[in-house]
This record gives sequence, structure tokens and C-alpha cells, in this order.
Amino acid sequence: MVDDDLFIVKLVTNILQNDGHTVVGRVESSGAVEAAVAEKPDCALIDLIMPKLDGFELCRQLRQHPELAGMHIIVVSSKPYESDRTRAFQLGADGYITKPFKAEDFLAAIKRVMEDYIKVKFWGVRGTLPVPGDNALRYGGNTSCVTVELGRDQFFIFDAGSGIKTLSDSLLAQERTPLTAKIFISHPHWDHINALPFFAPLYIPGGEFAIHGAHQGDIMTREMISAQMDGVYFPITIKDFSSRIHFVDLGEETTVFENATVTSKLLSHPGNCLGYRVDYKGRSVCYVTDNELYLKDDPYYNPHYEEQLADFVRGSDMLITDTTYTDEEYLKKVNWGHSCISRVAELAHEAEVKMLYLFHHDPDQSDEDIDLKLDQTRAKLQDLGSTTKCVAPAEGDMVKV
Ligand SMILES: [Zn+2]
Ligand SMILES: [Zn+2]
Repeated sequence: MVDDDLFIVKLVTNILQNDGHTVVGRVESSGAVEAAVAEKPDCALIDLIMPKLDGFELCRQLRQHPELAGMHIIVVSSKPYESDRTRAFQLGADGYITKPFKAEDFLAAIKRVMEDYIKVKFWGVRGTLPVPGDNALRYGGNTSCVTVELGRDQFFIFDAGSGIKTLSDSLLAQERTPLTAKIFISHPHWDHINALPFFAPLYIPGGEFAIHGAHQGDIMTREMISAQMDGVYFPITIKDFSSRIHFVDLGEETTVFENATVTSKLLSHPGNCLGYRVDYKGRSVCYVTDNELYLKDDPYYNPHYEEQLADFVRGSDMLITDTTYTDEEYLKKVNWGHSCISRVAELAHEAEVKMLYLFHHDPDQSDEDIDLKLDQTRAKLQDLGSTTKCVAPAEGDMVKV
């Protein structure tokens, strides 16, 4: 811990020692690099405003030592500015904690950075239409919305179905606004965009959002979002968003966000629809909906597309994908743009996916119907002799990758 404020050094030392850690505290930043090289701590906690060697420079110097490559660096500063956060991360910091803090929040923040997992949370797992009532008590009735959070406070939101309203409520309750996040829209069908106007952080000044989506020829992502908020179909327009919003049109490409990459792929669905793959420190999460895998004896079955899709999701830790229908139901819904469970199980198995997540359930299916789809998918994977595991996540479920 390097901080020129002796009170903070003592406070942090106390908090961490009470949690069983060993702490070396210093009020002098000069000499801290040599001390870190000698001690090789798991984590360096550094202040920003310090005489002689400021925190940014200290962070930069620490990152120049290959023997400290495994050490986490967390800035602990009273400076709340977004630009300081960004600069600290650019210089190699892994976390940024703002003073003052509560002891329990401080410990949780340190653990989050040290464990460095990908946190995936499901806010809506249904497709097509929200499902209220008794048939959706266990899996939840909201349409598509999933969040992916990475160590450095990177916050990705996939789709803005009705589940995004629950996410919005949760962020407000945790006082996590103003929020900086990246939103990835698979495609502009209602169940993937129509609750975006109810995502309250968009209206809070100081937030910053990049909304990514697949443009439909000459119809750009901005137009797709604004068209549903034109004053007629929704009483206010996107001009009422008080956060800073950028729109990004994507095709099949890879985008780098600090130490994570997001790759997009066009899917088999009416209109342009993108699947996304997040890769972060050797782990990966794929969000692939909506997507139709044709039966192998169907004239529309396209082995080239299936090979490309298998390569796209290959080896991923998590594949969250369209399993709208049972095999029986699918026979009546060919060309609707969605998949049946057997074809998805085959894809997951062939692509050596570690964990398959059933997603985008048909609105006419009850909780029991989803249980049945899960049993049938597991049986299919067993028939294939697959090592792929399968779950049906419920709204509110959180997974660490
Ligand atoms: Zn859909
Ligand atoms: Zn769709």
C-alpha cells in the first residue's frame, strides 16, 4: 500500500490484516518500485496524488518490471474522474477504488479484481414475447438480456429485451449510476430492443454508452433505436437520453476493448442478426441468438455456415444460444429463424463447447416445458458421447467464468 496519507495506510492495513492478509504500507512513493520487486506482493494498492512520484508514474514503472507481471495493481484514490480511471487502466492498473469507502465494499472490490472472473448474469431468458403468470415463475418471463462484467469495471449488456428493466432497477438500487457500458444488440426484432427506452441509466447525466448493432443495409443502428422512440410509438425520443450515447454499426469483425475482444458473426435469422463472442484472458463467452440451424436433410441446411458457426463458438466456456423449440415443435416452425435442441446439442458438441446455456424459449412454453427441453438436450449430448454440459439458466442466475 503506497499512500502519502498515513491515516489511509493505517486504515487499509487494518482492514486487510483483519481479513487475514499481510500488508506492507509506505507513505513514500519513491523507492516503492524497488520494494515491490523485493517483496513481490500479490497486489499493489497505490494512491494517485503523491509528491515526487505520482500514482500514474508509479503504475507505469511497476508495469515495466516483467517479474511483477502477475501482480495486480489497484488505484485507491479520492479522484472520481472518469479520465483518471481510464488513464490508470491504460497504464496497467487492474482496478480503481474511490475513497472514501466502507470496509466491506473495499474488501469486495479488492476480491473482485484479484479473482478476475467474467461475471455473466441473466436478466431475461425468454424469446419473442414476455411471459407473465404462473407458467414463468421459475425461469422468469422476461425477454433477452444478459450482462457480462470483466475485472476492470467493463460492463457489457447483450440485448435490450424486457429483462433490461430489471437490470435498470438493480443498477439504480446499487447506486451504480452514472454508468459507463457497452450495449450489444443482436438484431432489431422487438424482443431484443423494445425495453431499451426503460433503461433508466441512459437518462442520467455523466453516463456513457456505446450501442452496437448490425445495420440492415442502409438502416443504421441509430435509426433502429430511434425509430421505436419517435414520439408516436414512444412518447419521448432518443434526444431525451442525458448520457453520452455513441452508435456503432457492426458487421463480422473483432473489436478490442482494453484487454477483452468482442467478435461478431452474422447469424441464420431474418434480417442481419449478430452473434457475439467475448474473449478475456483465455476464457470466452458466446451470445448467439436468434439463430436457425436447419435439419441436416433440409434443403436449406448449409454445411459451410455451420462450419463457420462452429469455429466461431469453438472451445468456448459458455455458449448462450437460441434453443426456442423442442425437436417436435420445430417441425412446424421451419424457417421461423430459430433452432431446436438436438441441432444445438450437435453444434455445441462438435465445437467442444464446455457449457451450453439454453436460451430464448418460446413464449408458449411453461417452466415444465423448459425442464423437459433441458432433459432432452442432456440426453442428446449423452447419446453423442459429449463432454459438453448443459443448463437452463433462470432470470437472476449469475455465473462466474
Ligand atoms: Zn428473438
Ligand atoms: Zn429475431
